[in-house]
Amino acid sequence: MRSGMGRLAGGLGSVVLCGAALALGRPAESAVTKLIQIALFAAAVILLGLTTLRRTGVANKIFAGLVLGAAVGLAFGPDAALIKPLGTAFIRLIKMVVIPLIFASLLVGVASLGDMRKLGRIGGKTLAFFLAYYVTAVALGLFLANVLKPGENIPESVQAELKANYSEDVRTLGAGERPGVIEMLVDIIPDNPGDAFVKANMLQIIFLAMFMGVVISFLDRDKMKPVLSFFEAINDIMIRIVEIVIRLAPYAVFALIAAVVGTFGADILMSLLRYCAVVISGLLVLAVSYPGVVSVFTRFPYLRFWRGISKAQLIAFSTSSSSATLPVSMECAEENLGVSRQIASFILPLGATVNMNGTALYQGVTAVFIAQVYGMNLGISDQLVIVLTATLASIGTAGAPAMGVLMLIIVLKQVGIPLEGIALILGVERIMDMARTVINVTGDIAAATVIAHSEGELHSVGKPVAPGAPESPAGPQPGQPW
Ligand code: ASP
Repeated sequence: MRSGMGRLAGGLGSVVLCGAALALGRPAESAVTKLIQIALFAAAVILLGLTTLRRTGVANKIFAGLVLGAAVGLAFGPDAALIKPLGTAFIRLIKMVVIPLIFASLLVGVASLGDMRKLGRIGGKTLAFFLAYYVTAVALGLFLANVLKPGENIPESVQAELKANYSEDVRTLGAGERPGVIEMLVDIIPDNPGDAFVKANMLQIIFLAMFMGVVISFLDRDKMKPVLSFFEAINDIMIRIVEIVIRLAPYAVFALIAAVVGTFGADILMSLLRYCAVVISGLLVLAVSYPGVVSVFTRFPYLRFWRGISKAQLIAFSTSSSSATLPVSMECAEENLGVSRQIASFILPLGATVNMNGTALYQGVTAVFIAQVYGMNLGISDQLVIVLTATLASIGTAGAPAMGVLMLIIVLKQVGIPLEGIALILGVERIMDMARTVINVTGDIAAATVIAHSEGELHSVGKPVAPGAPESPAGPQPGQPW
C-alpha cells in the first residue's frame, strides 16, 4: 500500500515537474530558462526512475528513458543537446572496459578449448558448425540491411550535420588511404603488442589473446594455473563493472536520445523502428532455420525441437544471458531432445561462451545501419571486414546482457564507422539483446543436437543409456516414433 502511494506520488511529482518545465514556455526565451526547463525534465525522469519504476527492471527503465528522451528532444530541439554529456560519460564508461574484457575473456575461453584435443573430432565438427552459422548469420544481416536500408531515409541535411559533428571519425570509404584486404589481414598480427593496446587495435588484441590462449592450452596446466586465474579474475571484474554501469543506462539513454532527437528530429526515430524490424526479421529467419537444419541432419521432428527447447528460450529472453540459461539449455537438450550428457556438457558450455549467431547478425545489421545513417558507402571489402570482425567479435562476446553492443565497437572501429552511432541504438538495445540471446541459445542447442546425432549420441527421449552400454541408435530409426 505504502509503496503504491509512493509510486503514485512519484508519478504525480514527475508530471508536475514536466508541467512546470513546459510552463516556462516553448521555445523558452533565454538560455537560462532553457537550462531550467531541461533540469526540470531531468528531475522528472530521475524522480520517475526512483519511485514509480523503482521495482521495474532496467529494461523498462531504459524504455522509459527512451520515450521521455524522445519527448524532451522534440520539445527542446537542438537545446536538448545540453544534457548529452550524461550520455557521453556512459559511453566512455562502457568503452573503458572493452579492451581488458576482450583480452581476458578470449584468452581464458581459448585456453579452455585445450580440452578439445581429447575430443578432437567432436571439437572440429563443433567449430565447423559454429563458424558456418556465424558466417551465414552475419551475411544474412548484411543482406537484409543492404536491401531494406533501415538507415537510409535520413535527410541529407541531417546526414551532413552528423558528419560535421563527428568529422574526425567519419572516413569516406573507398578513399585512397584505406588499406587493401591482404594488408588488413597481415595487419592483424601485432608487431608490437604494447602498441596494439595503446592504439586499441581490436583485431590485433584478439589475435594476441587467441594465440596466447592456444599456447597456454598446450603448456603444463599447473604452471599455467596462476595466469588463467589472473585473467579469469580480470574478466569477472570487467563484467561486474559492466553490470554496474548498465544501471546508468536509462539516464544515459534519456540524455542521448534527447540530444539525438533534439538535434536531428524524428526522422532518426523512424529509422530506429525500421532498424528493429530488420534485426528482428533476420533473427526470425535464423530461428526457423535451426529446427530445419536439425531435422535435415537428424530427421528430428521440426515442431518437437521447438517444444523441447522453449523453456531455455524463455529463460534466455528474460535473462538476456546465454550463460545464465546454460543449466536450462542442458536440461532441455538432454531430457527433451535426447542429447547425451557427454555431448551436451561439452558443446553447450562452449556454445554459451563462443557461439553467438544472433549477436553476429545483430552486429552486421547495426554496423550497416549506423553507416547508412552517417551517409557512408560500404564497399564489398568493407562488408567482408564486417563478416570477419563480427564473427570474431561475437566469438569474444561473453554470454551476459549487453555484451554484444560492447563488442560491436570492434566492428565499427575496424570499418571506420563512428562509434557515437551506438547512441542511436542504445534505447532499443535491451529488447534487441533479449531477442538475440534467444537465438544464441537456440543455435547452441541445435549444434549439440546435430553433432550428437553424427556421433551416435542422440538417444530416444526417455531411454537414458547406461554408461558403458552400447550406443543407442542415432536419431529416429525407421518405425521408431519420437
Ligand atoms: N546477451 C547475449 C548473450 O548472453 C550476448 C549479447 O549481448 O549479444 O547471449
